[in-house]
Amino acid sequence: MSVLVVGSIGLDTVKTPIEEHADLLGGSASYAAVGASFFTDVQLVGVVGEDFPKAHVEYFGSRKIDLEGLQMVPGKTFRWSGEYHWDLNTRETRSIELNVFEHFTPVLPKSYTCTEFVLLANIAPALQSHVLDQMTQPRFIIADTMDLWINIAKDDLLALLKRVDMLILNDGEARQLTGETSLIKAGSQIRQLGPKFVAIKKGEHGCLLFGRDAFFSCPAYPLEDIHDPTGAGDTFAGGLAGYLASLDHTGPVTFEKLRKAVVYGSVLASYNVEAFSLERLRKLDCHDVQNRYGAFKLMSHFEVIE
Ligand code: AMP
Repeated sequence: MSVLVVGSIGLDTVKTPIEEHADLLGGSASYAAVGASFFTDVQLVGVVGEDFPKAHVEYFGSRKIDLEGLQMVPGKTFRWSGEYHWDLNTRETRSIELNVFEHFTPVLPKSYTCTEFVLLANIAPALQSHVLDQMTQPRFIIADTMDLWINIAKDDLLALLKRVDMLILNDGEARQLTGETSLIKAGSQIRQLGPKFVAIKKGEHGCLLFGRDAFFSCPAYPLEDIHDPTGAGDTFAGGLAGYLASLDHTGPVTFEKLRKAVVYGSVLASYNVEAFSLERLRKLDCHDVQNRYGAFKLMSHFEVIE
Protein backbone atom coordinates (compact mmCIF):
# COMPACT_ATOMS: atom_id res chain seq x y z
CA MET A 1 0.00 0.00 0.00
CA SER A 2 1.22 3.53 -0.74
CA VAL A 3 1.88 6.18 1.82
CA LEU A 4 1.14 9.83 1.15
CA VAL A 5 3.80 12.19 2.49
CA VAL A 6 3.33 15.96 2.72
CA GLY A 7 5.83 18.41 4.18
CA SER A 8 8.65 20.78 3.32
CA ILE A 9 11.13 20.29 0.49
CA GLY A 10 14.08 22.61 0.69
CA LEU A 11 17.72 23.48 0.32
CA ASP A 12 19.57 23.40 3.63
CA THR A 13 22.83 24.88 4.83
CA VAL A 14 24.13 22.90 7.79
CA LYS A 15 27.07 23.66 10.06
CA THR A 16 28.45 21.20 12.59
CA PRO A 17 31.53 21.83 14.76
CA ILE A 18 33.53 19.96 12.10
CA GLU A 19 32.04 20.81 8.70
CA GLU A 20 29.69 23.15 6.88
CA HIS A 21 27.78 22.38 3.68
CA ALA A 22 25.46 24.64 1.71
CA ASP A 23 22.44 24.09 -0.56
CA LEU A 24 21.85 20.50 0.41
CA LEU A 25 18.69 18.61 -0.40
CA GLY A 26 16.56 18.81 2.75
CA GLY A 27 13.09 19.41 4.11
CA SER A 28 10.86 17.24 6.24
CA ALA A 29 9.08 15.63 3.27
CA SER A 30 12.32 14.84 1.43
CA TYR A 31 13.70 12.82 4.33
CA ALA A 32 10.33 11.26 5.16
CA ALA A 33 9.54 10.26 1.57
CA VAL A 34 12.94 8.68 0.98
CA GLY A 35 12.76 6.91 4.38
CA ALA A 36 9.32 5.48 3.52
CA SER A 37 10.48 4.45 0.04
CA PHE A 38 12.62 1.68 1.55
CA PHE A 39 9.36 -0.14 2.31
CA THR A 40 6.64 0.97 -0.06
CA ASP A 41 5.45 3.34 -2.82
CA VAL A 42 5.26 6.97 -1.83
CA GLN A 43 3.14 9.88 -3.03
CA LEU A 44 4.97 13.14 -2.38
CA VAL A 45 3.09 16.41 -1.87
CA GLY A 46 5.15 19.60 -1.62
CA VAL A 47 6.40 22.67 -3.43
CA VAL A 48 9.71 23.76 -4.91
CA GLY A 49 10.83 26.80 -6.89
CA GLU A 50 12.53 27.15 -10.25
CA ASP A 51 15.98 26.92 -8.66
CA PHE A 52 15.39 23.41 -7.31
CA PRO A 53 18.00 21.17 -8.97
CA LYS A 54 16.64 18.69 -11.50
CA ALA A 55 18.98 16.07 -10.07
CA HIS A 56 17.01 16.08 -6.81
CA VAL A 57 13.74 15.54 -8.66
CA GLU A 58 15.36 12.70 -10.57
CA TYR A 59 16.59 11.19 -7.32
CA PHE A 60 13.04 11.19 -5.89
CA GLY A 61 11.85 9.61 -9.14
CA SER A 62 14.54 6.92 -8.90
CA ARG A 63 13.06 5.84 -5.57
CA LYS A 64 9.45 4.61 -5.46
CA ILE A 65 8.25 8.20 -5.11
CA ASP A 66 5.38 9.48 -7.27
CA LEU A 67 5.79 13.16 -8.10
CA GLU A 68 2.34 14.12 -9.39
CA GLY A 69 1.76 16.03 -6.13
CA LEU A 70 5.03 17.97 -6.35
CA GLN A 71 4.30 21.57 -7.34
CA MET A 72 6.99 23.49 -9.22
CA VAL A 73 6.18 27.17 -9.16
CA PRO A 74 7.91 30.44 -10.09
CA GLY A 75 10.19 31.73 -7.33
CA LYS A 76 12.86 30.34 -5.03
CA THR A 77 12.79 27.08 -3.08
CA PHE A 78 12.37 27.05 0.74
CA ARG A 79 15.74 27.44 2.48
CA TRP A 80 16.76 26.60 6.01
CA SER A 81 20.08 26.94 7.77
CA GLY A 82 21.07 25.42 11.09
CA GLU A 83 24.13 25.13 13.29
CA TYR A 84 24.82 22.27 15.71
CA HIS A 85 26.53 22.54 19.08
CA TRP A 86 29.30 20.20 20.19
CA ASP A 87 26.94 17.50 21.48
CA LEU A 88 25.21 17.37 18.05
CA ASN A 89 21.92 17.03 19.95
CA THR A 90 21.15 20.73 20.16
CA ARG A 91 21.09 23.23 17.33
CA GLU A 92 20.20 26.80 16.48
CA THR A 93 18.25 27.79 13.41
CA ARG A 94 20.43 30.42 11.69
CA SER A 95 17.92 31.45 9.02
CA ILE A 96 14.72 30.47 7.28
CA GLU A 97 13.60 31.75 3.88
CA LEU A 98 10.08 30.57 3.19
CA ASN A 99 10.14 31.66 -0.49
CA VAL A 100 7.61 29.57 -2.49
CA PHE A 101 6.56 27.89 0.74
CA GLU A 102 4.96 31.13 1.93
CA HIS A 103 1.93 30.73 -0.35
CA PHE A 104 1.91 26.95 -0.52
CA THR A 105 -1.44 25.23 -0.43
CA PRO A 106 -1.16 21.47 -0.68
CA VAL A 107 -3.52 20.27 -3.39
CA LEU A 108 -3.83 16.51 -3.75
CA PRO A 109 -4.02 14.96 -7.20
CA LYS A 110 -7.28 13.02 -7.44
CA SER A 111 -5.46 9.70 -7.35
CA TYR A 112 -3.96 10.55 -3.93
CA THR A 113 -7.24 11.37 -2.17
CA CYS A 114 -8.09 7.75 -1.39
CA THR A 115 -4.65 6.74 -0.07
CA GLU A 116 -5.02 4.99 3.27
CA PHE A 117 -1.72 5.75 5.00
CA VAL A 118 -0.84 9.38 5.51
CA LEU A 119 2.29 10.97 6.94
CA LEU A 120 1.87 14.66 7.69
CA ALA A 121 5.55 15.58 8.00
CA ASN A 122 6.49 18.82 9.67
CA ILE A 123 4.71 21.84 8.17
CA ALA A 124 2.17 24.28 9.61
CA PRO A 125 -0.67 22.33 11.27
CA ALA A 126 -3.29 24.27 9.26
CA LEU A 127 -1.71 22.90 6.07
CA GLN A 128 -1.61 19.41 7.55
CA SER A 129 -5.35 19.71 8.28
CA HIS A 130 -5.96 21.00 4.76
CA VAL A 131 -4.48 17.78 3.40
CA LEU A 132 -6.80 15.71 5.59
CA ASP A 133 -9.80 17.74 4.34
CA GLN A 134 -9.10 16.36 0.86
CA MET A 135 -8.76 12.71 1.85
CA THR A 136 -11.71 10.36 1.49
CA GLN A 137 -10.76 7.27 3.51
CA PRO A 138 -7.58 7.68 5.49
CA ARG A 139 -6.96 4.60 7.57
CA PHE A 140 -3.95 5.62 9.62
CA ILE A 141 -2.77 9.21 9.92
CA ILE A 142 0.59 10.09 11.44
CA ALA A 143 1.57 13.69 12.16
CA ASP A 144 4.94 15.18 13.01
CA THR A 145 5.35 18.69 14.41
CA MET A 146 7.91 21.10 15.87
CA ASP A 147 8.35 23.66 18.64
CA LEU A 148 7.57 26.55 16.27
CA TRP A 149 3.96 25.40 15.79
CA ILE A 150 3.44 24.81 19.51
CA ASN A 151 4.55 28.44 19.97
CA ILE A 152 2.69 30.18 17.16
CA ALA A 153 -0.13 27.84 16.03
CA LYS A 154 -1.14 25.85 19.10
CA ASP A 155 -4.89 26.04 18.41
CA ASP A 156 -4.38 24.71 14.87
CA LEU A 157 -2.19 21.94 16.27
CA LEU A 158 -4.78 20.98 18.92
CA ALA A 159 -7.48 20.86 16.21
CA LEU A 160 -5.23 18.62 14.09
CA LEU A 161 -4.52 16.27 17.00
CA LYS A 162 -8.21 15.37 17.22
CA ARG A 163 -7.98 14.02 13.66
CA VAL A 164 -4.78 11.96 13.72
CA ASP A 165 -4.02 8.42 14.89
CA MET A 166 -0.43 9.06 15.91
CA LEU A 167 1.71 12.05 16.84
CA ILE A 168 5.50 12.04 16.61
CA LEU A 169 7.42 14.76 18.44
CA ASN A 170 10.64 15.16 20.37
CA ASP A 171 11.11 15.26 24.13
CA GLY A 172 11.41 19.05 24.36
CA GLU A 173 8.27 19.52 22.27
CA ALA A 174 6.31 17.00 24.36
CA ARG A 175 7.24 18.93 27.51
CA GLN A 176 6.41 22.24 25.84
CA LEU A 177 3.01 21.00 24.62
CA THR A 178 1.91 19.58 27.96
CA GLY A 179 3.84 21.57 30.57
CA GLU A 180 4.94 18.25 32.11
CA THR A 181 8.56 17.51 32.95
CA SER A 182 7.94 13.74 33.00
CA LEU A 183 7.87 12.32 29.49
CA ILE A 184 5.74 9.44 30.74
CA LYS A 185 3.06 11.86 31.92
CA ALA A 186 3.48 13.95 28.77
CA GLY A 187 2.93 10.92 26.50
CA SER A 188 -0.29 9.98 28.31
CA GLN A 189 -1.53 13.55 28.25
CA ILE A 190 -0.94 13.90 24.52
CA ARG A 191 -3.01 10.76 23.98
CA GLN A 192 -5.86 12.53 25.79
CA LEU A 193 -5.65 15.27 23.13
CA GLY A 194 -6.64 12.83 20.36
CA PRO A 195 -3.96 10.52 18.95
CA LYS A 196 -4.27 6.86 19.97
CA PHE A 197 -0.50 6.52 19.72
CA VAL A 198 2.32 8.90 20.56
CA ALA A 199 6.04 8.54 19.83
CA ILE A 200 8.38 10.80 21.79
CA LYS A 201 11.88 10.95 20.28
CA LYS A 202 14.85 11.48 22.57
CA GLY A 203 17.63 11.98 20.01
CA GLU A 204 20.62 9.77 20.76
CA HIS A 205 18.65 8.19 23.64
CA GLY A 206 15.98 6.51 21.53
CA CYS A 207 12.24 6.93 21.69
CA LEU A 208 9.16 6.14 23.76
CA LEU A 209 5.99 4.72 22.25
CA PHE A 210 2.66 5.14 24.02
CA GLY A 211 -0.59 3.32 23.31
CA ARG A 212 -3.66 2.47 25.33
CA ASP A 213 -2.32 0.62 28.38
CA ALA A 214 0.84 -0.10 26.41
CA PHE A 215 4.35 1.33 26.45
CA PHE A 216 7.57 0.57 24.57
CA SER A 217 10.99 2.07 25.17
CA CYS A 218 13.17 1.78 22.07
CA PRO A 219 16.89 2.58 22.41
CA ALA A 220 18.81 4.40 19.71
CA TYR A 221 21.19 2.39 17.58
CA PRO A 222 24.65 3.19 19.00
CA LEU A 223 26.85 5.02 16.49
CA GLU A 224 30.48 6.05 16.79
CA ASP A 225 30.37 8.73 14.13
CA ILE A 226 27.50 11.12 13.66
CA HIS A 227 28.06 13.64 10.89
CA ASP A 228 24.74 15.48 10.54
CA PRO A 229 21.62 14.85 12.65
CA THR A 230 19.42 16.93 10.32
CA GLY A 231 16.34 15.05 9.22
CA ALA A 232 16.77 12.16 11.66
CA GLY A 233 13.25 12.72 13.00
CA ASP A 234 11.75 12.96 9.52
CA THR A 235 13.56 9.82 8.35
CA PHE A 236 12.35 8.05 11.49
CA ALA A 237 8.75 9.05 10.71
CA GLY A 238 9.13 8.05 7.06
CA GLY A 239 10.58 4.64 7.88
CA LEU A 240 7.88 4.03 10.47
CA ALA A 241 5.04 5.04 8.12
CA GLY A 242 6.49 3.16 5.13
CA TYR A 243 6.89 -0.05 7.11
CA LEU A 244 3.29 0.15 8.42
CA ALA A 245 1.90 0.76 4.94
CA SER A 246 3.91 -2.18 3.58
CA LEU A 247 2.16 -4.66 5.87
CA ASP A 248 -0.74 -6.71 4.66
CA HIS A 249 -3.52 -4.66 6.19
CA THR A 250 -6.55 -6.73 6.86
CA GLY A 251 -6.78 -5.57 10.46
CA PRO A 252 -6.14 -2.42 12.44
CA VAL A 253 -2.73 -0.96 13.17
CA THR A 254 -1.86 -2.54 16.50
CA PHE A 255 0.67 -1.63 19.14
CA GLU A 256 2.69 -4.74 18.21
CA LYS A 257 2.97 -3.57 14.59
CA LEU A 258 3.95 -0.11 15.79
CA ARG A 259 6.72 -1.49 18.01
CA LYS A 260 8.37 -2.96 14.93
CA ALA A 261 7.68 0.17 12.91
CA VAL A 262 9.42 2.29 15.56
CA VAL A 263 12.49 0.03 15.36
CA TYR A 264 12.57 0.29 11.55
CA GLY A 265 12.21 4.07 11.86
CA SER A 266 15.13 4.14 14.29
CA VAL A 267 17.28 2.02 11.96
CA LEU A 268 16.62 4.38 9.03
CA ALA A 269 17.33 7.44 11.20
CA SER A 270 20.58 5.91 12.43
CA TYR A 271 21.79 5.56 8.86
CA ASN A 272 20.67 9.06 7.94
CA VAL A 273 22.88 10.78 10.53
CA GLU A 274 26.01 9.07 9.22
CA ALA A 275 26.32 11.67 6.44
CA PHE A 276 25.03 15.12 5.46
CA SER A 277 21.70 15.58 3.71
CA LEU A 278 20.38 12.31 2.23
CA GLU A 279 23.81 11.09 1.15
CA ARG A 280 23.84 7.98 3.35
CA LEU A 281 20.29 7.00 2.36
CA ARG A 282 21.31 7.21 -1.31
CA LYS A 283 23.84 4.44 -0.79
CA LEU A 284 21.63 2.25 1.36
CA ASP A 285 19.73 -0.84 0.27
CA CYS A 286 17.09 -3.02 1.90
CA HIS A 287 19.68 -5.61 2.98
CA ASP A 288 21.53 -2.94 4.98
CA VAL A 289 18.25 -2.05 6.70
CA GLN A 290 17.48 -5.68 7.57
CA ASN A 291 21.05 -6.30 8.76
CA ARG A 292 21.02 -3.35 11.11
CA TYR A 293 17.54 -4.32 12.37
CA GLY A 294 18.98 -7.73 13.28
CA ALA A 295 22.05 -6.27 14.99
CA PHE A 296 19.85 -3.78 16.85
CA LYS A 297 17.62 -6.58 18.12
CA LEU A 298 20.60 -8.56 19.42
CA MET A 299 22.10 -5.62 21.27
CA SER A 300 18.77 -4.49 22.80
CA HIS A 301 17.31 -7.83 23.82
CA PHE A 302 17.56 -9.20 27.35
CA GLU A 303 16.39 -12.43 28.92
CA VAL A 304 13.43 -13.03 31.22
CA ILE A 305 14.14 -13.73 34.90
CA GLU A 306 14.54 -17.51 35.38
P1 AMP B 1 14.69 17.78 11.71
O1 AMP B 1 16.18 17.67 11.79
O2 AMP B 1 14.00 16.44 11.79
O3 AMP B 1 14.13 18.78 12.65
O4 AMP B 1 14.34 18.31 10.25
C1 AMP B 1 15.15 19.20 9.57
C2 AMP B 1 14.50 19.60 8.27
O5 AMP B 1 13.33 20.39 8.53
C3 AMP B 1 15.44 20.46 7.44
O6 AMP B 1 15.79 19.74 6.27
C4 AMP B 1 14.65 21.73 7.14
O7 AMP B 1 14.66 22.04 5.78
C5 AMP B 1 13.23 21.43 7.61
N1 AMP B 1 12.62 22.57 8.30
C6 AMP B 1 13.22 23.45 9.14
N2 AMP B 1 12.32 24.37 9.59
C7 AMP B 1 11.12 24.06 9.03
C8 AMP B 1 9.81 24.64 9.09
N3 AMP B 1 9.53 25.73 9.82
N4 AMP B 1 8.82 24.03 8.38
C9 AMP B 1 9.08 22.93 7.65
N5 AMP B 1 10.29 22.36 7.54
C10 AMP B 1 11.31 22.90 8.22
